[in-house]
Amino acid sequence: MAQEIAPGATIGILGGGQLGRMLAIAAAQLGLKTHIYSPDPDSPAFDVAAARTVAAYEDEAALAAFAGSVDVVTYEFENVPARTAEVLAAIRPVRPNPRALATSQDRLIEKQFLSSLGIATAPFAQVDDAGALARAVGQLGRPSILKTRRFGYDGKGQTIVREGSDLAVSFRSLGGVEAILEGVVPFVKEVSVVAARGLDGAFTAYDVCENQHDHHILSVTRAPAQVTPEAAQTAVGIARHIAEALDYEGVIGVEMFVTEAPDRTGVLRQSIIVNELAPRVHNSGHWTQDGAATSQFEQHVRAICGWPLGSTKRRGAMVEMRNLIGDEVNAWRDILRDPDAHLHLYGKAEARPGRKMGHVTRLIAAAETEKPKGG
Ligand code: AMP
Repeated sequence: MAQEIAPGATIGILGGGQLGRMLAIAAAQLGLKTHIYSPDPDSPAFDVAAARTVAAYEDEAALAAFAGSVDVVTYEFENVPARTAEVLAAIRPVRPNPRALATSQDRLIEKQFLSSLGIATAPFAQVDDAGALARAVGQLGRPSILKTRRFGYDGKGQTIVREGSDLAVSFRSLGGVEAILEGVVPFVKEVSVVAARGLDGAFTAYDVCENQHDHHILSVTRAPAQVTPEAAQTAVGIARHIAEALDYEGVIGVEMFVTEAPDRTGVLRQSIIVNELAPRVHNSGHWTQDGAATSQFEQHVRAICGWPLGSTKRRGAMVEMRNLIGDEVNAWRDILRDPDAHLHLYGKAEARPGRKMGHVTRLIAAAETEKPKGG
């Protein structure tokens, strides 16, 4: 029987980036302490945590000491090595469970898992070498997208196979590692579902939200997504199906594509295709900090502690979240002057191009959302 986690307990968090930082802040508001484990001595999460360990994810002695000092372990990124999760799980509960990690950190295993549940994904094929790429391109056609199975993020570890692309060059450009080829999904929108499942199986989801990317990096999220009620219901149902199949504990982010096609009667119908899972709090859920009754960070803390989940009710007709990437963060003073804006900064010293430095949320009243587009 797992020990009950009560206020005063300590949550161990693997990873010291902005997600770990915001989890630690939410935990503190609920009277919990956090211990951050990160190999990077400049981790932004260290500023707001009660304890820190600076060590490699492969340092088993440091992992054992860390696990022994906390009541439950969670993580803010999905590339936690399997062995790391195993070492920790032998000492303390790791939530979400290591299976959720193993499934989401490999694009092939992830897509096979989704397919086994009958959930639509982009058409895909396993690519272990240049010969397999040629066969996969024969099957899926061009253009198609070659992605490394592991360690890809924000568009890194991917390349488009176009008409005329030399396949040996394409394969080598990703480092010659195991990959998958995906057919291009003709999506009209990208959306995501941020949801949570508690230790007792309770499930809650925030409104489906709509995401815009700039250079492969999330730029703006708006909730609710402008999709049909049927599509929204399907999207949430898919997130629930995934969470239940993984016996999931905590917040999960599910990135999806929306496609449109006329049905037999000529009415345009939207379909949902899953792109990928994040077994953690998600950038497209940051709007919940100011725009929902319970933030995704608090919800994750509640879920992994075995506490009742909070309300996911949205505040305001629409909520918008904008990432502050690189030197966009220099506008912090102007953002503070905007009475509708809530500024969140991650405390990172250097604003390198493409680096997520903070975000700003805005609650938009009904009257504003009704303005014609571009007006
Ligand atoms: P990912 O790293 O898989 O999230 O991909 C980054 C972005 O590339 C997505 O947000 C999409 O905009 C685009 N993308 C990825 N896979 C596909 C696909 N199979 N079809 C169309 N666009 C894709």
